[in-house]
Amino acid sequence: MSDGNAILKGTRRTFLQLSAAATAAMAFRVVTEADLAAEDRNVYHPGAIVIDANENPLGPCDAARKAIVDMAPQGGRYSYWLKEEFVKTFTQMEGIKPEYLRVFPGSSEPLHFTVLAYTSPTRSYVTADPGYEAGMRAAKITGARVVKTPLTKTYSHDVKAMAAAAPDAGIFYVCTPNNPTGTMTPHSDIEQLLAIKPKGSIVLVDEAYIHFSDGVSAIDLVKADQDVIVLRTFSKIYGMAGIRCGMAIGRPDLLAKLETYSGWSAMPITAVAAATASLKHEHLVSDRKQSNAATRQKTFDWLASQGYAYVPSQSNCFMLDAKRPAKEVIDAMAARNVYIGRPWPIWPTHVRITVGLPQEMEAFQVAFQAVMKGSTTTGFVPSLNRRRLYSDGQSWPSV
Ligand code: PLP
Repeated sequence: MSDGNAILKGTRRTFLQLSAAATAAMAFRVVTEADLAAEDRNVYHPGAIVIDANENPLGPCDAARKAIVDMAPQGGRYSYWLKEEFVKTFTQMEGIKPEYLRVFPGSSEPLHFTVLAYTSPTRSYVTADPGYEAGMRAAKITGARVVKTPLTKTYSHDVKAMAAAAPDAGIFYVCTPNNPTGTMTPHSDIEQLLAIKPKGSIVLVDEAYIHFSDGVSAIDLVKADQDVIVLRTFSKIYGMAGIRCGMAIGRPDLLAKLETYSGWSAMPITAVAAATASLKHEHLVSDRKQSNAATRQKTFDWLASQGYAYVPSQSNCFMLDAKRPAKEVIDAMAARNVYIGRPWPIWPTHVRITVGLPQEMEAFQVAFQAVMKGSTTTGFVPSLNRRRLYSDGQSWPSV
């Protein structure tokens, strides 16, 4: 073999090793709402109103905060039983067997792993449009065809169109309430999808926002041993996005496929302790559902009174039609220190708004009115201080 050939072979081997490493790295790049929200923005300025990532400004409830603090001194120990206690608490509440539940640090992980496990170049990923993008990003890794089906006129997933568009489906992703619209897909439609879907495919029901709504969970379909995996998270109504706890609920044989990708399943003990305390809280969900709905309704009333168009939502986010290019509005709002959410290509004049605290939504209204009326004064001087400082007064070092 000539030196040149040897070098060429060595280079090719290195390249193959590198590309295998790159593929492996990509496979473990779990895209989250935080990543998607941050893609177009730089840094918040002092006093920023941050309503761009469907976060919960209330944070963890008091019992969850106490659980975190109480757990800190025990942080040197793995304390596996805390996860078992969490599993016991949730499965008893829902009437499912413990083997039907897997706990993760958030629901982005099981969403990502489910897509890796159930899609491929011959098994497509079917989703609504507009719909939450994280699963589509994961489908790029497996080389799956991504089939986007527009929402119906009432903004639910068009389950018949989804099934018709993909006889090769690996996953039908149904997010209800949907991110970004906050609109529901009825339980009966999910049942219908299960009845007409191709053999071997699964329905992945993402219930990240279900507690804000009057929707009926699909967990009963898991109990009935259907081809369904349900995702839940503590990032939304429970206010634990930064603490990280989520889960996948499904038939054990369906969940077993995720294990190839999910590695070691240890959980931070602070996260499971806080999640267990939150589950045991008697009125956290009802109180927060009610306060979110009240602030959302007040915002809708104001928008309607001013003649602005929005999509009615049952969640902590909604789509607002600015009737002009979304990016323009997002930038103009940011110049007023109000950070609103991204647009979706299918609806280029809509922006996604997260329902924040009442005072945050009042600040949003003032800024939005000024932007829409074309006021040139921003009323805000950007600071050079590159720290993130949220409207609730807490500041965090920029990372
Ligand atoms: N699913 C949907 C629809 C979401 O909007 C989000 C986050 O915003 C997630 C899943 C993942 O959230 P987390 O990883 O924080 O549990």
